Parts: sequence; structure tokens; C-alpha cells
Amino acid sequence: MAENRKRTKIVATLGPACSTKDILEKMMESGVNVFRVNFSHAEYTDVEKKIKLIREINKSRNFNVAILADLQGPKLRVGKMAEKVKLEVGDTFIFTTNKCEGTNEKAYMTYQNFPKDVQVGEHILVDDGKLLFEVIDTDRDSQVITKVLRGGKLKSKKGVNLPNTKISLPALTEKDIEDVLFAIKMKVDWIALSFVRTPEDLIQLKELIKENSSYKIPIIAKIEKPEAVENIDKLTPYCDALMCARGDLGVEVPMEKVPLIQKRLVLKAKKAHIPIIIATQMMETMITNQVPTRAEVNDVANSIMDGADAVMLSGETSVGEFPLEVIKQMRKIIESVENSPLISMPETYVQCINERFISKAICHQASIMANSINAEVITTLTDSGFTAFQISSWRPKSNILVFSSNRRILAMLNLLWGVKGIYYDRFVSTDQTIEDINNLAHERGYLNEGDFAINITSMPVKQRGMANTMRITEYKETKKSN
Ligand code: PGA
Ligand code: MN
Repeated sequence: MAENRKRTKIVATLGPACSTKDILEKMMESGVNVFRVNFSHAEYTDVEKKIKLIREINKSRNFNVAILADLQGPKLRVGKMAEKVKLEVGDTFIFTTNKCEGTNEKAYMTYQNFPKDVQVGEHILVDDGKLLFEVIDTDRDSQVITKVLRGGKLKSKKGVNLPNTKISLPALTEKDIEDVLFAIKMKVDWIALSFVRTPEDLIQLKELIKENSSYKIPIIAKIEKPEAVENIDKLTPYCDALMCARGDLGVEVPMEKVPLIQKRLVLKAKKAHIPIIIATQMMETMITNQVPTRAEVNDVANSIMDGADAVMLSGETSVGEFPLEVIKQMRKIIESVENSPLISMPETYVQCINERFISKAICHQASIMANSINAEVITTLTDSGFTAFQISSWRPKSNILVFSSNRRILAMLNLLWGVKGIYYDRFVSTDQTIEDINNLAHERGYLNEGDFAINITSMPVKQRGMANTMRITEYKETKKSN
């Protein structure tokens, strides 16, 4: 099968629906760039087995599919409920922090400080907002009395959202810390944190990774709390990517506000030169149907045209009936819209003269030049991935080929829009490096006789410093050396 040429990336959540090597390989072949482990549901031995399979396929097929560990964060839940609990509008209902089986009168709430943190008049949403309660009273000890504003069936372990309550839970729960240590052991490529509120939440995660891993695993801030949306400018400097987590976000803020928040987040990510993933319910009906709805097709397409780096699948691939078909459908949508002029280079944001200014300027100008001379490829050689983040964020029309001798960096970069990683470990003169790189691009079918390549390098080569040089090459096959 020909190498996948789509540029917008697909993140697919692992689960029982994609358990065999055969299905994983077919999904990777059809366009998955990143697999997500959702730690709200993961079981370590199963995750370990799947990661091993994915890495085996990466090796045998020369793929760089990345693993993203997604931490549950301070997610609240109700406890076990009796069968057939159904609440009616106007009912009085109690949330208690004393363990019990839930009934039509009360439910156990896992969050012990709830009666102290909540205020009268605040809202409680349960099961993705299907049920809605208003706080009438709290004894500030163990019981919160509420009135049902939106009723329905209340089942065991359903998630609870408290959009207006200032929650005093730590950003990283004990479970998250354990999951991070496991993720480090598994050498994952990205770690995402749910319900991020402040920069301190991200700093805590970074510290934990630093204390336990010699490799700097990049982190993703999942934006799904109103505070995170408000604090977005303070968060971007402390994370390496954003996720617009529309599932919880659409419960925490009125769901009709999500479309404009999505657009704002994409813009913020672009300005920060970090990738952004758009997540949740993108192809939801394909959990049980073989074809998506027109609205879903439009949602995926519009997210790409907004400027997303990656689109994510959750239940569609983890528990859905058509985990492979949904990838193929998503890929078709991506391929049909991503060359549209609507995905143009973002306007030039003023770049202040700061650290890495030279590299940033080179990457920016390379992207502009690639468009103006119709270059087929922009190539860059990297140890850290920095130049790949920069070039990708400018959305040039040419392919972005990133060469590195570090396979972990190549897998990590697989999340970024338009980036193709190619392994390269020779350490020779700049002249020879550029020749090697262009020949590798040719072998992969990205560069042909007479095409232009823009090569970004660092001179002098032996310093292995930051990118500071841009060269245009007209590719000649005859130049090929052995
Ligand atoms: P989740 O995050 O699937 O881990 O809850 C995504 C979202 O909330 O949209
Ligand atoms: Mn979420």
C-alpha cells in the first residue's frame, strides 16, 4: 500500500474494538497517526500488550505511529446505583459523601470535599449533562440537597460535572500519578491531562515526568473547563499541544458556546506554534452505523479548515462496530478538503526577538518561500523536533519532511499537521547531508527530477546547533551518490 499522504492527523482511541494485530495494522495503514490510551478505562496488562503490537507494526512497516497516554484527571463520579433509578423534574435528591448504594432519594459522590466546596444555587450535571440538579442546601459536612431540573435514568458510576464550583481536588490524583509512572515505563510519546485549570496543573505534570523520566515526554492540555478557556494564554506556554475536548467542555459550558471556543483555541495554538487536536463525537454515529451523517462529515471538514492538526476518535474506534471503516471515512474527508485554499498560511504574527529567534525566522521564511516557488518539500534535521513544530504551524503547501536519528522524536512528531518523519543517522558534511536527505525524499516518492526542495540545516554542521540556514535545491536524480 502506498505511503499515506494525508496531512491532517488522526488520533484513534484504543479499546476492545481494536485488539488484534491484524485490525491495528489495518488501522495504521488506513491513516491512524496516534493511538490514545484512555486511562479512565485502561487496564495495564492489556495496554502493554497493545503498545507492544503497535511498536512491532511500526518496525515492520516503517511507520512512526505514536502513543498518547490520556490521564483521567480529577473526574468526579457517582457510586453504584440500584437498578432502574429514574428521577423526575422537581424531585429532591441528595448527594452524600457516605458510601452507599444509590436510590431514587440519594447517590454516593466520590468527591469528599463536595459539601464544603459547593455553593447554594450552583449546578450539578451528571452523565454528560443528561441530568441536571440545582443545589438547595449543604450541611458542609457530608450531604448536599438538590432539586432535579432535568430528570432521567441515573446509572452507576456516571460522570459528574460541576462547572461553577471551585473544586479543591489536586490536578493529579493518586491514580493519575500511578498512570504517569506506568506511561513513562511504556515510553509513550505524549501525555495528556484532563480538566486542566491553571498553569500549576501543567507544571505539576511536567515535574512528575522530569523526576521519573530522562526523556522529556511532551504534554497536552485538555481544554474542557471554563477556567481553562479563560486562562488559555497562561496555559499555552506550559504545554506542548492542546486538545479541544468537546465532550466535557460541552457540559461544563453551554454546548452552543463550543463552536466559537474551538475556533479560538485553534488560533491560540497557531500563535503558540503548538499542535491542536479536535476531539469527541466527530463520527459518533459510526459507533453503530457504517456511514457517517452529513453533519459529521461537515464537522470533521470544518475542523480541518479551522486549522486543526489532528482529529480524534473515541468510542468510534474503542468500542464501535466499525473501527476500521471509520478511519477510512475520516481519511476520505481529510483528503478531500485539506488541499483547499481555505487552509492557508496563517497571517504573519509578529515574532518578538527572543530565544530561538533565528530558527523561528528561518522556518517561517522557508514556509513562505515554499509556497512562492512551489517547492515539493521542506526538509529539516532535528534532535528536539522544534523546527517541525514551527514549520507545521505555518501550514505550507509542500510536504514537511523531518529527519532525525531519534525514533522517539519521529513518533512524537507524528501528531503534527503535515509532518512526515524519516529516520536518518549519518553525521556528515552539510553538502552530503542535504544530498542524502533529498535522495531519501526521492526514494519515498516526495521529490522528482526538476522539483524544488527547501532544506533547512544548521551550520557549521559539527556544532549540531539550532537551524540557521535555508537552501533551495533543484533535484537532479543524476546527483545520486551511493
Ligand atoms: P475524554 O476527553 O474522552 O477523556 O473525556 C475528551 C472530551 O472530554 O471531549
Ligand atoms: Mn474529557
